[in-house]
Amino acid sequence: MHVVLLGSQGSGKGTQAKRLARHFRLAHIETGALLRSAAQSTTALGRKIDHLMNVQGKLVPDAVVVKALREAVRQVPVRKGIAFDGYPRTIKQARILDVLLRRLGRRLTHVIYLPLSAATTIQRLSLRRTCQSCGTPWILGKTLSRSAKRCPACGGNIIQRHDDKPTTIRKRLAEYVRKTAPIVGWYRQRGILIEVDGEPSIDTVWKNLLRTIR
Ligand code: AMP
Repeated sequence: MHVVLLGSQGSGKGTQAKRLARHFRLAHIETGALLRSAAQSTTALGRKIDHLMNVQGKLVPDAVVVKALREAVRQVPVRKGIAFDGYPRTIKQARILDVLLRRLGRRLTHVIYLPLSAATTIQRLSLRRTCQSCGTPWILGKTLSRSAKRCPACGGNIIQRHDDKPTTIRKRLAEYVRKTAPIVGWYRQRGILIEVDGEPSIDTVWKNLLRTIR
């Protein structure tokens, strides 16, 4: 089973990817996390990635992302499936993924699209807080109390991601609409797209997703 999770930022694709990975014993590959760790490097490349992600809200160049993705996929045992979260983000990347998987004897089996309105996307991202240790995203005032300083899951520090600040949120959303949203139609034409409304609660989306996959 090789699954791509598609949706705007805040659509819950990371959360649902984690659940899918746990439920079906898949590896979970999250390009955003791979790049956030690359952005911490003080090399020129690290600084460039940091600027693109956190200031400009832009996509990181394919060469960088594909290298990180290829390394991550190669580390997954051959018999284990993968949930891809944050990749592909352009039709070109979707084509690259097909080739990469084919070369490794793998094949994409499901693409799960979690549509979400622009209003909900902006609202969720501005309220999103993230655990610095375990990476769990929380929604202020909903899944996390407004006064909480510690992650309810692991006790780690709660932070706001640099790219979840209002100015970067809008830029990222514009990138999504322009570059990533067209992938939905591309996969739909191939007949492997499953659409599950991303607006309801995490548990409801998960229930609907499982029912639709089965
Ligand atoms: P995410 O955590 O998935 O929201 O990703 C955070 C940021 O990482 C994005 O806004 C991009 O700057 C970068 N990024 C993640 N995945 C990709 C990708 N597939 N291609 C290019 N940039 C990416």
